[in-house]
Amino acid sequence: MSGDNFYRATAGTPVWPALAGSASAAVCVIGGGFAGLSTALSLLERGEKHVVVLEAETVGYGASGRNGGFVFGGYSLGERGLLDAAGDGRGAQLYRLTLDALDHIRRRIERYGIACDATHSGIYLANWFDDDRILDEQQRFMADKLGVQWQRISRAEFAQRAHSARYFGALYESNAFHFHPLK
Ligand SMILES: Cc1cc2nc3c(=O)[nH]c(=O)nc-3n(C[C@H](O)[C@H](O)[C@H](O)COP(=O)(O)OP(=O)(O)OC[C@H]3O[C@@H](n4cnc5c(N)ncnc54)[C@H](O)[C@@H]3O)c2cc1C
Repeated sequence: MSGDNFYRATAGTPVWPALAGSASAAVCVIGGGFAGLSTALSLLERGEKHVVVLEAETVGYGASGRNGGFVFGGYSLGERGLLDAAGDGRGAQLYRLTLDALDHIRRRIERYGIACDATHSGIYLANWFDDDRILDEQQRFMADKLGVQWQRISRAEFAQRAHSARYFGALYESNAFHFHPLK
């Protein structure tokens, strides 16, 4: 492990021993990030008992243990980029999968009692620019193309909620949440 960081300093996660010798498994998952861990967990949930996760550093060492912790719908490509790349129908299906994933993550946190400081208060897409059209267009796009209702929060209301007058209103994704990624 390289130097300490905020996430490690505040997570208190266990350090698992290095693999000694050889191990046999029905499935070996390489990498203990979100993708590897959720694959392993999904296999266990489907009754596969012989699963080994091999992590070169420590669990959550990569981006999974040090990201923003925002759990929301969509991909880093952005909604417009997604629909441009996949087409409207397929893009909307792919987007829907991420909303399902959001519910799935929420259920797993509850089912396994994962103490990850989850805050289920939604997420705001704040507007940095003094131009209401940005939020209007995004809100319309989400509703028309993806059937998703993001609530418009006025400048005054958002200034109160964010304790800052820096922003020009926001869109509110109420189903999204935040957690400590490494926990
Ligand atoms: C700064 C930042 C902020 C982000 N914020 C968010 C956010 O708020 N919300 C969000 O949803 N996403 C966010 N992301 C994206 C998200 O963190 C990643 O999409 C996600 O963590 C990727 O998970 P992963 O399991 O695919 O990869 P990783 O987390 O990178 O996991 C891969 C693991 O495999 C291990 N590994 C690699 N090679 C081997 C090998 N040969 N043998 C054994 N182990 C190996 C690595 O050590 C690592 O632990 C953010 C990313 C960054 C960088």
